[in-house]
Amino acid sequence: MVEWLKLVDKARSRSIWMLMYCTGCGAMELPPAMTSRFDMERFGIMPMATPRQADVILVTGYVTKKTLKRIIYAYEQMPAPKWVVSHGSCPINGGVYWDSHATVNRLDLFLPVDLYVAGCMPRAEANMKMFTELMDMIAKGEARGWEEYVKNRDYYKENQRKLFGYDLVFTDGRSAL
Ligand code: SF4
Repeated sequence: MVEWLKLVDKARSRSIWMLMYCTGCGAMELPPAMTSRFDMERFGIMPMATPRQADVILVTGYVTKKTLKRIIYAYEQMPAPKWVVSHGSCPINGGVYWDSHATVNRLDLFLPVDLYVAGCMPRAEANMKMFTELMDMIAKGEARGWEEYVKNRDYYKENQRKLFGYDLVFTDGRSAL
């Protein structure tokens, strides 16, 4: 049974559909990953337009409060297993926008981040390293953020509620509380 699950994880790691949620300027370094020089498709990684078909949500820059709400909506629509990558300094610690009234400094207070890619902006080489690291983590069963999100739902919902008040309603009609 355990061997069978390892095989499933390995298969998943070689077929990643990625929702590139391009919130900030860091997205500029992603196109090279899709073109012939780096060619992320050779790893089985494809860009995906809709959350319901995506395995990974890649948040590529600063996160405003308005954007965060949409990111949470998108994440909640993704089927498990699913993963979150925090790309660039801004969603990790606020980056150059750390004292802005409009941005959120830490994405991981609101969603379970599986992998962080530091830099402003992370270069194409760092993006390729991110892809291979994520594949390894998935293959080894080490990226389990979606389970943490379910286990610690109260924690994440409380942080979301503090930011948005009672205004946050999920796609299934439930409110944040
Ligand atoms: S980390 Fe740098 S490149 Fe990325 S969104 Fe922030 S300012 Fe832009």
